[in-house]
Amino acid sequence: MKIREMQDEIIRLKKEKDFCILAHSYMSPEILEIADICGDSFKLSEEAAKVKNKNLLLCGVRFMAEGAKMLSPDKNVYLSNPEAGCPMAEQIMPEEIISFKKAHPDYTVVAYVNTTAALKAVSDVCVTSSSAEKVVSLIENDNILFIPDKNLGSYIASKLPNKNIKVLDGCCPRHNGVTKSEAVSAKTRHPNALLLAHPECRPEVLELADYIGSTSGIINYVRNSNHNEFIIGTDNSITEYLQLEYPVRKFYQLSEKLACRNMRLTTLVDVYNILRTGEGEKIELDPELSEKAKKPIEKMIELNRR
Ligand code: SF4
Repeated sequence: MKIREMQDEIIRLKKEKDFCILAHSYMSPEILEIADICGDSFKLSEEAAKVKNKNLLLCGVRFMAEGAKMLSPDKNVYLSNPEAGCPMAEQIMPEEIISFKKAHPDYTVVAYVNTTAALKAVSDVCVTSSSAEKVVSLIENDNILFIPDKNLGSYIASKLPNKNIKVLDGCCPRHNGVTKSEAVSAKTRHPNALLLAHPECRPEVLELADYIGSTSGIINYVRNSNHNEFIIGTDNSITEYLQLEYPVRKFYQLSEKLACRNMRLTTLVDVYNILRTGEGEKIELDPELSEKAKKPIEKMIELNRR
């Protein structure tokens, strides 16, 4: 079957079977084209809760499907490829946080949304990379444990010097893998390009960046900029996406390491097969765990609205 024929069939099947397709911005263009909602992990969960469809099909990684299920407990949520996990989301065990809280009852635990439901359930407030600075600044307690990403946590600490922010040793292996010498080399090869970097990159890489922001922040920065050349310091799918969107401007990858294997596991065929057969991994969460994990997300939403 040709790609276009498969996409047409997916569009027909999703209407017939009442599915809404949610695709993370790191997905391939052929998946983004047939998706109903595209965006970062939090946007997907939040928008999914508003749609009327009975079934949600998430193209991304497991913690995103769990997030969608938490915010839409009455919908059937499917993960397009059951192998697609996120190494960072699983780096810290809930038991570690429970013992930290026992030893440090005066700390507020802030969890990046890139965490498992079990880890969210023992945290106090969630953040996304775009909301982290605002949400942490509005937490009344100055003592913060930020998990799991030490780079995002350190970046937020540098922006909020009045807060006492501790981090643990977690990170995104893709973003953290980029070295300062790669950033220097990219800037030397492309002296007219601006370096736009995700805060999951190491501090020494962020120091060289012209702009630091979430995936959607990077995309918006390009949209609003008059500049013509950019080095993209986040997943290379975003470099490709921007190049397609702006064919006459120039986009360079910061590093070949910025290619998340897990984000690339989902294929158009996975989406087609779930819609065709109705068989796929349906996300089931223990209702009690789900309720607990939802609380820090609701707290984030409340603080972010202020
Ligand atoms: S890019 Fe990093 S944080 Fe995102 S899914 Fe891949 S490993 Fe996880």
